[in-house]
Parts: sequence; structure tokens; C-alpha cells
Amino acid sequence: MRRSLVAGNWKMNGSVSMTKDLLAELKVGLDQSMIDVDILVCPPFLYIPLAVQMLSASSISVGGQNLDIHEPGAYTGEIAAEMLKENLCDYVIVGHSERRALYGESNDLVAQKAKAAVAAGLKPIVCLGETLEDRERGDTGRVVRKQLMSVLDLNGVDIFPFAIIAYEPVWAIGTGRSASPHEAQEVHALIRETIAEFNPTVAGHTRVLYGGSVKPDNAQAIFSSPDIDGGLIGGAALVASDFLAICESTEQ
Ligand code: PEP
Repeated sequence: MRRSLVAGNWKMNGSVSMTKDLLAELKVGLDQSMIDVDILVCPPFLYIPLAVQMLSASSISVGGQNLDIHEPGAYTGEIAAEMLKENLCDYVIVGHSERRALYGESNDLVAQKAKAAVAAGLKPIVCLGETLEDRERGDTGRVVRKQLMSVLDLNGVDIFPFAIIAYEPVWAIGTGRSASPHEAQEVHALIRETIAEFNPTVAGHTRVLYGGSVKPDNAQAIFSSPDIDGGLIGGAALVASDFLAICESTEQ
């Protein structure tokens, strides 16, 4: 049985007051609900200590949105895995499509980031996903498999189920156009089959999240697919009532 996870990626949004308000609302909402899934928030680095402090008596975890592959040293502007760990992060997102597209992160670098995360005791959420051009060319499976194989080649299958996958079609991120449950399930099944080629038991235990315009009104349909184990949520993670409604829609 895989326990569902709903992760909020705040991206470069927020402020001290927004962090306080949003997390206070999430805590109250969670206390008043029957929600029983793993919940994670990934604020910008600067707000992580505040988030950790605010969530210390709650079951909500805190994670980073990125990390550098190196040990602490002369890497201006970067954050090391062990710094996230020291600041009580449990998870870190790696290979988000915005990092791949805007900051040139390659499949190889993403695989190295996953490795650095695990070495520090952080659970990496490894993002995979095709562009619209890839999909229209009929290349979705090949592209996603190649991204996944880079992680498997460098880290071996034993990185799972500690590591988590997030399938996020690039054309669905922040566009309001989510993949249909069928489109998402097809790729999730491919991801699980690929891991199963190395170890079927590990594949059965690995959580594969869906991300891309998940909202309260489409979450339940997407999360009801057999290979979808929760979501990575962008825009809707910034509105407490929406994020809680999405968590509520997640099946065990
Ligand atoms: C994301 O940034 O990972 C994401 C899925 O964003 P959104 O939910 O806004 O599409």
C-alpha cells in the first residue's frame, strides 16, 4: 500500500506574513478535518525556518524546491543538501521543469541532485515531464523514460521507494489545462513499469505524484487513477482552502 502525498510547490512566491497566514490556515483546516495523507509544503528557502517553526507541532512536512549537488563551499548563491537537512527539511524537489527550462538543468544534473539529496537523508521528489511539442510528436513515453533512466543509471533502483517521482507534463504546469486522468495514468503506468524492469517490488512501493493544474474541481478524478499517488501542486498550494480541498480528494 502506498501512502498518498500532496506537496505544495510555492515557487518564488510568498512573504513572512503570507507564510504565517497560509500555514496557520492549513493547520486549523487540517485539525478540523479527517485528512489522512502525507502533506508537504515547499516554500522559498528564506521562509523554511519560519515554516518549520510554525509546523513543529503538526504533521505537515517542509521541503526545499531545489539544491546544489556540492558539499558546502565556494558556490555563490547555492544551497547544499545538508543545509536543508540541518534546517529540518524532509524532502526536496529536483528537476522541476522550470529549472530544466529556465536554468538549463540536464537529465544528468537532475540525477546528481537526486543523489545529493539522498546522501543527506532528504527524500527527493524527482520531476519528469514532456513538453507540448514532445507530446504532439508522439514522444511523451520516450522523453519521460529517458529522464527516468538518467536517475536509475546514476543511482540504481535502490534510490526508490525513498525517492518519489512527480510526473508533470510541462504543458499542464500553470496553464489551467491539466492532463486528463487517462493521459496521466498512461504515463504513470509507464514510469512504474520502467522501475519494475529493475525491481517489481520497489516499483510497487514507489510513489508517483501527478502535477500540472491540479485544482479542487479536478483533483478527485486525477487521483482516482491506480498509479497516481497524490500530487505536486503549484498555484493551488498558495490558497489554503484549495490546498486542503485537494488533500481531501486524495485517496489512500
Ligand atoms: C508545479 O509548479 O509543479 C505545478 C504543478 O504548478 P500548477 O499546479 O500551478 O500547474
